Amino acid sequence: MSGLVDGFGRVHRDLRISLTDHCNLRCTYCMPAEGVPWLPRNTLLSATELMRIVEIAVAEGVTEVRLTGGEPLLRPDVVDIIAAIHSIENPPEISITTNGIMLPRLADRLAEAGLARVNISLDTLDRARFKELTRRDRLGDVLDGIDAAKAAGMTPVKINSVLMRGINDHEAPALLRWAMENDLELRFIEQMPLDAGHTWSREGMVTAAEILETLRTEHELEPIAGRGAAPAERFLVDGGPHTVGIIASVTMPFCGACDRLRLTADGQLRSCLFSSTESDLREPLRSGASDEEVAAILHRCLAGKLAGHGINEPGFLQPPRPMSAIGG
Ligand code: SAM
Ligand code: SF4
Repeated sequence: MSGLVDGFGRVHRDLRISLTDHCNLRCTYCMPAEGVPWLPRNTLLSATELMRIVEIAVAEGVTEVRLTGGEPLLRPDVVDIIAAIHSIENPPEISITTNGIMLPRLADRLAEAGLARVNISLDTLDRARFKELTRRDRLGDVLDGIDAAKAAGMTPVKINSVLMRGINDHEAPALLRWAMENDLELRFIEQMPLDAGHTWSREGMVTAAEILETLRTEHELEPIAGRGAAPAERFLVDGGPHTVGIIASVTMPFCGACDRLRLTADGQLRSCLFSSTESDLREPLRSGASDEEVAAILHRCLAGKLAGHGINEPGFLQPPRPMSAIGG
């Protein structure tokens, strides 16, 4: 095994797989109300194709697989896919990023199949604001989903929150209080220019510095050392044990430590969320490529990985695919 190393010496151990581009919410910072042009069905990787890629990636050095989307729990065979990944030799750690709506129905089966950890996205605790932000009245289902994940033993449950200026940014302290009361690990994510509607603006984005300043009006926050390749900078809240994370993808990019590689639901490999190019795995798989040939595509894709995402460079262009089709 040679390891998945790019031209800058970064070793890639984390494969993020989008299981579907469909979703049961329409978060304003992610998708327009009418959705996006969905990927044609015949382009979606089957579970068998997906497993072949996972096995090859694990043999090449991947140790973590995160399932995402779109909404990954909408994929009917999600439990079987997790069980299959969990049963390969030297199985990677399996986690999922979800809006949580399907967890009351699925959490026990997911945990039994081998799902170790879950990140649930929630930006507001207010029902009316949730409906406005996601264009669906499903806050109750998300809260039940969080309880279901905890009851199934997938702890610590992490919560991802995106703050938007003048919409939910004033809720940061309340979200942190609620997370601590419920033993949840909260992480705030800076909004990124990845939405299908191209609504992102630098001025509209609530920065990590602003979030920290707001939280510090109510709490002592002490940075925790040893972040490694993790995207979140973590802080101990009021001396602990609770923590809060900030993912400052835009204002303090962590590209230098990136260990992530992404696979879209239609079998395209991306070395970065913001890549303008993709490496096709679907057609080679469907036309009988050998494991060595597929592995070579993984290595070639990484050889072209840039040093950083370039959001702060003058010529930055938002990638053609939205976040929901890349897999967040
Ligand atoms: N549907 C699942 C969910 O919402 O958790 C998984 C996919 S979603 C694209 C993954 C994560 O990306 C969510 O936490 C969501 O809040 C975040 N996200 C979506 N659009 C974003 C954007 N423009 N900037 C920052 N984060 C975004
Ligand atoms: Fe769906 Fe997740 Fe995008 Fe919201 S952030 S619309 S839940 S894919």
